[in-house]
Amino acid sequence: MFVSFGLRFRVNVEAMNMVESFGNYTRHRTAPLLRKTDNGYEVVFAPVVSGQAIAHAFMRALADLELNKIGVTPLQSGSSESGSQQSKSSKTEPRLCEDCKNYQTIGGFLKRSGDANTLLDNRVKTCIVDDVTGFMATKSSSKSEKEGKSKAMATKSSSKSEKEGESEAEEKGSSIRRTSRIMFSYMIPDIDAARATIFPQFHVRFNNIKNENAIFQIESGSAVYMLTIHVNVSGIGQLSTEQYVEDRIDRVDKTFTALMTMFSGSYIGAKHARYLPIIEFLGGIAAISKPMPFSVSPPKRYDYVADTLQRAYVYVNNIKDECIKIFYFDNEELIKVNENKQTTENQSQTQGCIVNVTRKTSLEELIAAVKEDVMEELKKNSNKK
Ligand SMILES: [Zn+2]
Repeated sequence: MFVSFGLRFRVNVEAMNMVESFGNYTRHRTAPLLRKTDNGYEVVFAPVVSGQAIAHAFMRALADLELNKIGVTPLQSGSSESGSQQSKSSKTEPRLCEDCKNYQTIGGFLKRSGDANTLLDNRVKTCIVDDVTGFMATKSSSKSEKEGKSKAMATKSSSKSEKEGESEAEEKGSSIRRTSRIMFSYMIPDIDAARATIFPQFHVRFNNIKNENAIFQIESGSAVYMLTIHVNVSGIGQLSTEQYVEDRIDRVDKTFTALMTMFSGSYIGAKHARYLPIIEFLGGIAAISKPMPFSVSPPKRYDYVADTLQRAYVYVNNIKDECIKIFYFDNEELIKVNENKQTTENQSQTQGCIVNVTRKTSLEELIAAVKEDVMEELKKNSNKK
């Protein structure tokens, strides 16, 4: 199962993603974007927020949820005895590795990157952040050579069961990696609809003792931003053997709750102490698809739900058993979809189906509806993808 989100935000005076300082001048991250013109396209530079910055916000939200044990639900699989034991232990023991548990002290998510000896499945079982957001751990070749061939060979044989391509251990060095189950685009302005600007803000601190001004400038950005998020639900909690961890369903629940926390709890971006961005959630769309992934159309200022639907119809007609559910919310009144007309289920001409084009009223409702639907589906087929 796969979930794709496309979201729109109006953000004013933000310094969410700063890149470097020249003396007393701090720059906002920018990227070249293509804007539509009467004659074609032109390149403009505009403020952006990197996917890495958003992933970092998500990891913090996920780790905080786990540390606080908010929203822990009883585990669905396993016998009632082991279930209750698991549930009990999961209430006291956060499913986090030492690095993720102490991310605030460390200042980031190292995810055991220097420890290539802890095998992939063990990492997935012990840390929800490593499981959902992926990791890479390497060991340098020189160190490996010093430690001797025998140890390298031992690592190789014990990792035999690891999924091909995700883990490797060789005499010349070793690395273990897991692809993130959640993917974030850059947050970029919808420059076809509105100009995005960056402007340096002038600040002064006056020193009474030295009787002098300390001047500094920080660039701030304002834009209607778009963000795309993909969640590979089937990959969450999946081990190299293609089996799932026992608490898979709770991990999926926590992933979507962390997404909501990231937005509602203002986790995205830096400089919140003096540049807390004013964010307005304008609208967004989400599609749940299975068995094959389907991504929503870019949430630009047009009827992106109708566009997504049009594409989805062709998609389900070409893929056997493909099913897509669509949710959206729209505070700009861009969407003109007739929900009843757009709902078709197992039409004779259709191989797959599109069901439930459902309007929600807020970003939180959108994520909650997606989460509820995904959870329901997983509970029905707990061992399926
Ligand atoms: Zn971790």
